Amino acid sequence: MAQKTYIVEHLDEELGPWSELEYIAIATESHEAGAQFLLSSLPAAFKVPDALSAVPSFVAENRGVEEISAADKSRVCLLDPSAAKDLAPEDGDNFDVFLFGGILGDDPPRDRTSELRKKGFEGRRLGPKQMTTDTAVRVTRLVVEGKTPLLDVPYVDDPDLKFNEHESTSMPFRYVTDKDGKPIMPKGMVDLIGKDADKAIDDLF
Ligand code: SAH
Repeated sequence: MAQKTYIVEHLDEELGPWSELEYIAIATESHEAGAQFLLSSLPAAFKVPDALSAVPSFVAENRGVEEISAADKSRVCLLDPSAAKDLAPEDGDNFDVFLFGGILGDDPPRDRTSELRKKGFEGRRLGPKQMTTDTAVRVTRLVVEGKTPLLDVPYVDDPDLKFNEHESTSMPFRYVTDKDGKPIMPKGMVDLIGKDADKAIDDLF
């Protein structure tokens, strides 16, 4: 099977700490799977974090995905929450490049993936529920490379993260689960969310 490329088109000006952890997770997992991860459309002044540039198969691109894929746009599949068709294992034969919006999930979703849809890429959905970008890449890889039908990918919706006896936060997204049924999240994410929760509580006083 030809090597797959996962492209996240960075659509925010800044790189927040959340996106950074997500991108590191995508880069590391792509590398382990022998795939390539490209972060495109980076502003010229963008400073790529060391932890990302350290991943061997990671590529940082200032060009946008339209320019990168100009030669054969038909081999690019946009993962689009509004697409009419769900992603299927056969799509691994139809496409070499899988494209995602580099946007934080928002609740309710603001459909910023439309910025990529407008460019005319063929779209596929990963079910009806919003996922984080790293989850969307993980699911896509399981379906197109692992040949697992979308409906067989184990998941949990809106998991609660418990920080201690009194504090918990519900994450309004769908996550892939591990063998213990726990949501898979980027390394460091639970700590980061815990800190954000502490800050929000401090802000009340
Ligand atoms: N709130 C954002 C979605 C952010 S999720 C919006 O307004 O569009 C980040 C990216 O993950 C999306 O751009 C899309 O490429 C992918 N994604 C997340 N959930 C998905 C789903 N259910 N189906 C297809 N792609 C999804």
